[in-house]
Amino acid sequence: MLDDESSYACYAATENQSQGRIYNEAKPNFRGEYQRDRDRIIHSSAFRRLVYKTQVFVNHEGDLYRTRLTHSIEVSQISRTIAQALSLNETLIEAIALAHDLGHTPFGHAGQDTLNKCMHSEGGFEHNYQSLRVVDQLEAKYAQFDGLNLTFETREGILKHCSARNARNLGLIGERFLNRTQPSLEAQLVNIADAIAYNHHDIDDGVRAGLLCFEQLNEISLFRKSFDSIKLKFPHSDEKRLLHESLRHMINAVINDLIINTKLMLNDLNPKSIRDIRKNNLVTAKFSDGLEIEHIKMKQFLNSNLYKHAKVTEMTERAETMIIKIFESYASNEKSLPESFNRIYRDTKKANKLRAICDYIAGMTDRFAIAEYERLVEL
Ligand code: MG
Repeated sequence: MLDDESSYACYAATENQSQGRIYNEAKPNFRGEYQRDRDRIIHSSAFRRLVYKTQVFVNHEGDLYRTRLTHSIEVSQISRTIAQALSLNETLIEAIALAHDLGHTPFGHAGQDTLNKCMHSEGGFEHNYQSLRVVDQLEAKYAQFDGLNLTFETREGILKHCSARNARNLGLIGERFLNRTQPSLEAQLVNIADAIAYNHHDIDDGVRAGLLCFEQLNEISLFRKSFDSIKLKFPHSDEKRLLHESLRHMINAVINDLIINTKLMLNDLNPKSIRDIRKNNLVTAKFSDGLEIEHIKMKQFLNSNLYKHAKVTEMTERAETMIIKIFESYASNEKSLPESFNRIYRDTKKANKLRAICDYIAGMTDRFAIAEYERLVEL
């Protein structure tokens, strides 16, 4: 069913005001343009690969941990709730959320940092910019164009950060990084929904892995408040249920704060259209000041207690060794390239050879990268 845009707020992104696709296409019959974007994202190979990519824990470490795919789905459902509450475009926000991590490398941030080092002399590697490259260029299955030919609004939402150097080569989509303006509210909110999702699910996964315990979590004021009220309500519940109830209570509290505060920001700004949102130098979607501080503290807690935990950094170091080995083998010896990539590589212009290697490695799943590393070590 086509979305009914008449129910949207005047500052929502609508198809009527869309800045369109790079290549013109006939309108779909029974879907809206953003529905078509979402469907193309779900049908992409990059989306399917997310299921085997690390969020914090490497995919084979356990079946119940979040992967990039389940993380993206959680971001999508949080985003859609917020979009509904603010009368924004729910289909667009879903498309942006499902695509926001398509450019992520194997092994999470460790993979991305290592590829950035490997590509130092060639302009580096940025995962947000890579997500845009995936949907603009790297998915190669449509007959008439490279990439998925998504609308400007979905692409704008995917590119949440970008260096000035890359922004200069992107035309209209890069302009906001040069004149320091903002994207649509839908894009701003996916950015925050991303942080809400990982801050909460990483606590859950950290406890499941035995790397975080309840006593430590009490250092997080947001957690402590939720936990205390849940414990009072369900004094005889076991720890597993208490944790789940506390986390859902927390997620609910932060989403409520975000919705209420964003409404206040909108009242002050009084935007008449999406143009007023975009030309603003400051974000319109944000937490209240008090919650913003608590949310940052939660992130800092996870940084020092989970992401820098010896068990996690051990994996990080292994990931670095594997990515460097794969990159250097491919770059120094064409014979080491797997057959599926060799053909593409031979057709690539000389100047872009390292970028082609980087794109190929970035697209790998954790288990493909591990297998590839083992193959190369034995060569
Ligand atoms: Mg994310």
